[in-house]
Amino acid sequence: MRTVPLFTAELFHLELDRNPLNLLKFAINQVVPGKEDQKSRRPRKCIRGLFSAGSAERRERKQMNFTAFNLHPDVAAGIREAGYTEPTPIQAQAIPSVLQGRDVMGLAQTGTGKTAAFALPILHRLMQGRRAHVRALVVAPTRELAEQIHEAFTTLGRAARVRSVTLYGGVSFNPQADKLKKGVDVVVACPGRLLDHIGQGTVDLSHLEVLVLDEADQMFDMGFFPAIRKILAHLPRARQTLLFSATMPQEIRALANDVLNDPHTVQVGTVAPAATVSHALYPVEPHLKTPLLMELLKHTDTESVLVFTRTKHRAKRLGEQLAKAGHRAASLQGNLSQNRRQAALDGFRKGEFQVLVATDIAARGIDVSQVSHVINYDIPDTPEAYIHRIGRTGRAARSGDAFTLVSGEDAAMVRTIERALGSPLEHRKVDGFDYRAPAPEKTAQPARSARPAQNRTRPAPKAASAAQRPEAPRRRRPKAPARAAAPARPAGQR
Ligand code: AMP
Repeated sequence: MRTVPLFTAELFHLELDRNPLNLLKFAINQVVPGKEDQKSRRPRKCIRGLFSAGSAERRERKQMNFTAFNLHPDVAAGIREAGYTEPTPIQAQAIPSVLQGRDVMGLAQTGTGKTAAFALPILHRLMQGRRAHVRALVVAPTRELAEQIHEAFTTLGRAARVRSVTLYGGVSFNPQADKLKKGVDVVVACPGRLLDHIGQGTVDLSHLEVLVLDEADQMFDMGFFPAIRKILAHLPRARQTLLFSATMPQEIRALANDVLNDPHTVQVGTVAPAATVSHALYPVEPHLKTPLLMELLKHTDTESVLVFTRTKHRAKRLGEQLAKAGHRAASLQGNLSQNRRQAALDGFRKGEFQVLVATDIAARGIDVSQVSHVINYDIPDTPEAYIHRIGRTGRAARSGDAFTLVSGEDAAMVRTIERALGSPLEHRKVDGFDYRAPAPEKTAQPARSARPAQNRTRPAPKAASAAQRPEAPRRRRPKAPARAAAPARPAGQR
């Protein structure tokens, strides 16, 4: 079981800072609500304390723009193309150290701008030295995140003519091998498929200069650490290593100790949700969740909604129910082929779908900056998962709402999340909704809970990774040579 409290990262940072003033600021942030919060009774200030940039970071950010990094003009052109005007806190903190060639431990999650925090200095480095050799490797837990990182390299590295490739399972092996053969500068890979390429000899990592391990805690949860260790054995020892993780459980500390050399630790929370996300609970009987969701969608000004369910089955079924009710809805879950997953994601990004129903694992790493609402149809299993989910909304300084449908069996998890956030979540009701409607006939019932009620209030056991594994599409592995010892891993994440 992962027992790391939500704010471990924050404390870990303070521990490293050894700055009592920071500790005091952190404590005040946690217990003193701002005026706005007293009025609205929303736990914004507390959430800000957990997620947002601290005042020192904000000061640092204010004083800095991208020109201060003195990046290669072609990389600066990439920043302009991406439309970034000022660095996010994680970028302000990390980029100088990465440019100096230092190892970096980054405590940050998706939504903070961490991708550019490592991509920009890597691109700058690539401007000198041999091209078309793999000099940077990013290892990420899911193909969605890998694609997102690849896209960032493509946009930011367009003027620099940097070539990157993604390597993950669930798609053909040979086109990836062909791209590698033509010569690339950056490889963005999920661990299993990367090992396949290493085993086949289709990827040459002997010129590697920078390794990035992204979302290390997620990779641990998904059982990827044995694969990571194998990959490490194939990399040059003299290299720069950057490790990013949203949380800092013992296992990540151990990995960091092993792979990082005198690292500079930088840490921020998710920037945007801090100021812009409001949170609410919608208590409802389990059998009324779907009608309540429909009602919420009807009455709320929802531009684009990411709905989370506990299982892929529920995601699929709810997506179908919403579509049947006339919503432009799609579901994203591991049983879809890669093409259909991509189509669902693209459709959501372009606004063809207003609602995307997803499981945690399928949604991991999704960068959909325009998400207006995150609705937890099922409450997440851990406070960390709650943060990851709400990190999808309120990005890029837009406002967002995070709604959670809860029934009696979720009470303990609600308390756990509230404790972690440091403040109670607002309870809301939808006016005019018949909360006392009886359970409909069996056929019309919402998808059943994935597990017995008594288990639902407990944080997910570490074997949540195992529970997540069925997410992987059941596809036949492309023919790859037998390796001496194939690592245990989720098939779809190869
Ligand atoms: P990430 O945390 O890397 O997933 O990034 C989250 C989102 O922030 C992505 O849509 C990025 O394109 C965007 N982003 C990253 N850096 C900046 C920046 N300096 N200014 C504005 N947006 C940014």
